[in-house]
Amino acid sequence: MKMSLPSEMRCLVKETEEQGYQLVKRPVPKPGPGDVIIKVERVAICGSDINLWKWNETARIIATLPFIPGHEAMGEVVALGEGVTELKLGQRVAVENHFYCGSCYLCKEKRGDICMRMNQYGHGRGTDQGGCAQYSRVPARYCYALTTSLTANQAVLLEPMGVAHNAVENIEVKGENVLVLGCGPVGLFAIAIAKALGAREVFGVDIDPGRLKLAEAMGATVTVNGNKEDIGETIMRHTDNNGIGRIIEASGAASLLNKSFSWLRKGGQMALIGLPKAPLHVENVLTDIVFKSLTLKTVHGRRIFHTWKECEQLIAGGLVTVDPVISHNIAMTQHEYAFQQLIGGHACKIVLDPQN
Ligand SMILES: [Zn+2]
Ligand SMILES: [Zn+2]
Repeated sequence: MKMSLPSEMRCLVKETEEQGYQLVKRPVPKPGPGDVIIKVERVAICGSDINLWKWNETARIIATLPFIPGHEAMGEVVALGEGVTELKLGQRVAVENHFYCGSCYLCKEKRGDICMRMNQYGHGRGTDQGGCAQYSRVPARYCYALTTSLTANQAVLLEPMGVAHNAVENIEVKGENVLVLGCGPVGLFAIAIAKALGAREVFGVDIDPGRLKLAEAMGATVTVNGNKEDIGETIMRHTDNNGIGRIIEASGAASLLNKSFSWLRKGGQMALIGLPKAPLHVENVLTDIVFKSLTLKTVHGRRIFHTWKECEQLIAGGLVTVDPVISHNIAMTQHEYAFQQLIGGHACKIVLDPQN
């Protein structure tokens, strides 16, 4: 069963290590059993898509050539494969890109979000599909069916917002002071979610004045420019020298992460989201870790589909505003310009429209 679809579509591909993304024509995919075809309305570009574009060390770990990029995607179901009953034609969906296997130890424990044999949409891992395409084939079980009338831009942000939500939810922020390190898109979402979930003061740390402005717009009550102020001193001044109760590390800067243990209050909790590329090094393990009786949580992706539901409700209920995080809406045919903006540091979140 399907609506009438064209035979050809535009998509981006990465074919070789040397080339970036190329805009090409491909046949519109056909759904296999259990699949749906999505007409992609929006695809958001993630920091990891830059790694993939450049094909650096990280890319070699997380992706396999060739692939259609784009793992943050949303759109409308326009064709149903055999046996799909949970979705209907016309349903608006967003893609959970952690393609869990369904049969490993963790999948059996209902923790498919951290599946041990996970494939990934938009990375050439177990699927040649990705969101930078006019149409995309996705197994129905990885589609989150929207239940509200979120805009396409809001819905496409549910994936990165979900990572932030997963972290914030794990560290009991209610009534606590929360420090968010790094005000990129995920850090910004963490600020807004921490506020919505009842945090007292939320400190946003970055070195880019534009990002600190955004942090304020997202609900940070204190912003700290790490290039101009001593972060530790600022925290101690605001907390009666007790240290901060909750930390969310979203910068991926190893030097910040290493220092952050000394800023945490005794009994504090910390969640790691960023991807540091240098070793973890803590000078005073006894006083900064062991005697602190701290809780360290790390997250990888979202709880499926708990996180999605929570995030959709936060946006639909007006408790979190995500739109300020989007700095650019760009037609996918202008992908070269989009990646120049992002790689040059001139953008926050870029959302592409694959239909244009
Ligand atoms: Zn991402
Ligand atoms: Zn699994």
